[in-house]
Amino acid sequence: MSDDSVPTLYCVNHPDRETALRCNRCEKPICYQCAVRTPVGYRCRECVRQQQAVYFNDRPADPVIAAGVAAALGVAFGVPIYLFLGIFGFFSLFIALFIGPTIGGLVAEVVRRSVGRRRGRYQKYIVAGSWIVGLVAAWGLLVVLGLRGPAALLRLDVLLAAALAVSAMTARLW
Ligand SMILES: [Zn+2]
Ligand SMILES: [Zn+2]
Repeated sequence: MSDDSVPTLYCVNHPDRETALRCNRCEKPICYQCAVRTPVGYRCRECVRQQQAVYFNDRPADPVIAAGVAAALGVAFGVPIYLFLGIFGFFSLFIALFIGPTIGGLVAEVVRRSVGRRRGRYQKYIVAGSWIVGLVAAWGLLVVLGLRGPAALLRLDVLLAAALAVSAMTARLW
């Protein structure tokens, strides 16, 4: 005999499963498989989705704008990085340590402004990927123009600056 004061709950998605868990937002009974652990407790998938829809408020064109702006900035920063960073020899690595995060922060800020500060679920990946595409395009441009050799693509100072830039820009985007 179960205690009558505590009614047995069944998961709304799995009526055959008993559970003691409720979504802490809508109070629906949910089993452990249906529960999503969030920083504020267990929630059902519908509530999590709704919360994210409010949080991620980007418009359909935003990813395209973000990708275009990030790629253009990849070219804009890539050309001087490939042309001038290497001329400082060993010190290029130290310079890369400083300019990498600065460039990343700048790219993130310009992109955020260009999309009206709206948040997108994949925004940071789109921006980082497009920026790298722009960087590689800058290298391709310089190779075509005969200003740099193909091997410059993987120069250590460039890789260091690029890695720091990407980590800074993804940290500033959502
Ligand atoms: Zn819920
Ligand atoms: Zn369930």
